[in-house]
Amino acid sequence: MTAPIKYVYEFAEGSRDMADLLGGKGAGLAEMTRIGLPVPPGFTVTTEACKVYLATGEEPDEVGVEAARALTGLEQAMGRELGAPDDPLLVSVRSGARFSMPGMMETILDIGLTDESVTGLAKASGQERFAWDSYRRLIQMFGRTVMGVDGELFERAIADHMAQREVATDHELDANELIKLTDDFKAIIRKETGEDFPQDPADQLARAIRAVFDSWNGERARVYRRREHIPEDLGTAVNVQAMVFGNLGPDSGTGVAFTRDPATGERGVYGDYLPDAQGEDVVAGVRDALPLTELKSLNPSVYVELGDHLRTLEDHYRDLCDVEFTVERGRLWILQTRVGKRTAEAAFRIAHDLGEEGAISADEALIRVDGAELTRLMFPRFDTTEEDVPLAHGVPASPGAAVGVAVFDSAEAVRRAAAGEHTVLVRRETTPDDLPGMIAAEAVLTSRGGKTSHAAVVARGMGKVCVCGAEALSVDPAARRFTTPDGTVVEEGDTLSVDGTAGTVHLGELPLTDSDVGRALESGTSTGPLTEAVLGSLAHADSVRRLEVRANADTPEDAARARALGAQGIGLCRTEHMFLGERRALVEAMILARDDSAREEALAALLPLQREDFAGILEAMDGLPVTIRLLDPPLHEFLPDRTDLAVRLASAEHPEPHDRELLKAVERMDEQNPMLGLRGVRLGLAVPGLTAMQVRAVAEAVTERLRAGGDPRAEIMIPLVGTVEELRLARAEAEQVLADVAAETGTTFDCPIGTMIELPRAALTAGRIAEAADFFSFGTNDLTQTTWGLSRDDAEASFFPLYLEKGVFEVSPFETIDQEGVGRLVEIATEAGRAVNPRLETGVCGEHGGDPESIHFFHRAGLDYVSCSPFRIPAARLEAGRAAL
Ligand code: PEP
Ligand code: MG
Repeated sequence: MTAPIKYVYEFAEGSRDMADLLGGKGAGLAEMTRIGLPVPPGFTVTTEACKVYLATGEEPDEVGVEAARALTGLEQAMGRELGAPDDPLLVSVRSGARFSMPGMMETILDIGLTDESVTGLAKASGQERFAWDSYRRLIQMFGRTVMGVDGELFERAIADHMAQREVATDHELDANELIKLTDDFKAIIRKETGEDFPQDPADQLARAIRAVFDSWNGERARVYRRREHIPEDLGTAVNVQAMVFGNLGPDSGTGVAFTRDPATGERGVYGDYLPDAQGEDVVAGVRDALPLTELKSLNPSVYVELGDHLRTLEDHYRDLCDVEFTVERGRLWILQTRVGKRTAEAAFRIAHDLGEEGAISADEALIRVDGAELTRLMFPRFDTTEEDVPLAHGVPASPGAAVGVAVFDSAEAVRRAAAGEHTVLVRRETTPDDLPGMIAAEAVLTSRGGKTSHAAVVARGMGKVCVCGAEALSVDPAARRFTTPDGTVVEEGDTLSVDGTAGTVHLGELPLTDSDVGRALESGTSTGPLTEAVLGSLAHADSVRRLEVRANADTPEDAARARALGAQGIGLCRTEHMFLGERRALVEAMILARDDSAREEALAALLPLQREDFAGILEAMDGLPVTIRLLDPPLHEFLPDRTDLAVRLASAEHPEPHDRELLKAVERMDEQNPMLGLRGVRLGLAVPGLTAMQVRAVAEAVTERLRAGGDPRAEIMIPLVGTVEELRLARAEAEQVLADVAAETGTTFDCPIGTMIELPRAALTAGRIAEAADFFSFGTNDLTQTTWGLSRDDAEASFFPLYLEKGVFEVSPFETIDQEGVGRLVEIATEAGRAVNPRLETGVCGEHGGDPESIHFFHRAGLDYVSCSPFRIPAARLEAGRAAL
């Protein structure tokens, strides 16, 4: 018999290992309870209950029974009853998914307050205003979240009361006014829903739990999940916890603390504190918080106690932790902890420092960083001089350099981004409703809030540049502008440069320069703690990885840069890039040649140019493999556009005969589906002398490098092969030329000949193809295109957004390898190829070669190397190392 499923866990029953079931927050609360930290008691309704609710519209029957039992336990622990008329217990109801989704789902506080219990709370706390303020907050939150009333109606009612009392903030409304406001709120609910605000605390609780479940499918939450690649079907847990109050006077307060600085990773406790405030006030950034160090003078013993708990947590989790805490009349409570979100810089520094401190192993430190973070650190930074005076300073909440035009609401950022414009989203503070705009913008700038405000936390999580709390800016979203103290006015559409590392904003576009990390990676020398941490993790990745990392490069400069960044050769040198620019005329001559001798002449003119290209690259990669791919794209790509040419001819008084001929050639070569047409190996077989010229150029470059005392390791790669017959023909021609050059020059050299696997047929007949190949290189761009029947040039711009929205794709298959389909072909071909030729070398040179998730797949598939653009090499090395752990 299987044990019945349990849907509700008291905090004391759970642990950190139960995050799938209890969500991140629930698991953290359970763990803190277990290790003896002062956590207000409570219980968690599991993600499983949520899944059932989302699937059927009702929670399982057991939830009600188990929650009632857990509530009784909670009431006994607190010595008070939920919503009791004299001294009521109040609870908070908070979401908490497996992965943190800050502010994206609902929270309802002060559950248990009713017309009766509000007076009980007033008496028990001795604070009438506090009690009524809590009650009106509950009605407002409950009305909006549970009963679906437009939040704006409540805001308007508050504004009316403030206007009547002639006060500027709701803090200045006294108890009597709040009593009236509460009545107004209740009337709004009645009018909007035809129902009264519920006076049964148990009913409030049950409905609040359901509303949190529902918020999993709210618009904000869905947008955030898509952006963060969080699966849709995880569901959220719900945490019900005894309320403690930070707004009971000067000896109360609330704050957020980190065990290390989440922006830089620097050691030392860090955070914000707001005296006499409720928890949500800090995260919303509505009032400016004090630095945590101020708590030291406000309440020294609480400060010391908090420091002790932070140390306990970091030792326990062996990682950066953040906590939300509340001080209620001098007593410290920890309301939440999690392994904190951090910037890329902090991730590297913290992992490195924890490794040095002996808290974690080098392998573990490597697991804690990733390629996407490393890439972010390689982005350029602003090159400023003393003359570049910032418009304003704020909190450097999320580092990096971004340029864009100012926009003042989320929708405008989305609109402009869709039109390809870069924007900076400027707000007083952000709320979860700003999420789409934050995703669309290059940077976020706020005039309020600290490093733990919503804007800061979310931007950091996304790796988006953010400066917050730039208090000198007076932001007027309605007028779509902000002003600085010296009277500068910045309107929507004006260009801003935002430096998230320095915490500054400049008017106009500042020049960019290489990042310190980029420089350190190229030079191999560290210049400070961050670069030391980055180089350290890469060195460890290199020592553990099995996959080699090569570069896609087709100039000596790129090759040299790639080598400096750690490339172990070139996995793809695309020779078509050498047919552009001033050489176009020669290529045209080759295409237009009327007979063999004209073609031979054109090819002969291209030969020395190609030879020098290859010699330069072989020199830059001396001693390392250089895989040179023969010409791949359809020839008409090297000719002028058909329409342009026709118009030119039609409008010319004396049309050039050359243009006429060109047009004929363009028309002759026109194809409906050029990507499935005369390209790749087909081209080499169809245009006499083309393969021979390219192979000769390679062979002569090799002999030239040999004569110069070099160690050239060229390999020849035949693209778009579908059957072994094609490869045999191309190979025979290439081998003949290699033998000719060897004989002519009296040298011997080895030049492996291999093929790209980029058609499903090639993958499925790889065993045959391996008979004629020394290596396979998976061209996963074309292989994705041809396996899915998706045009790599059009599909992403056309219906991909819809497919991503509908969940057909979680991510574009051109970005991350589709393991089930395209990846399966890679596995099949590798296995079949190796069975025939055990020495067959295998690699991938499509864009996926630089994609972190795909690299882990290629490692598992047993490939020998990945090849990617030079800029992605450090991240690929790092991920190849992580894949091996
Ligand atoms: C590929 O198809 O994956 C590939 C590397 O070749 P190209 O992108 O040049 O078609
Ligand atoms: Mg290709």
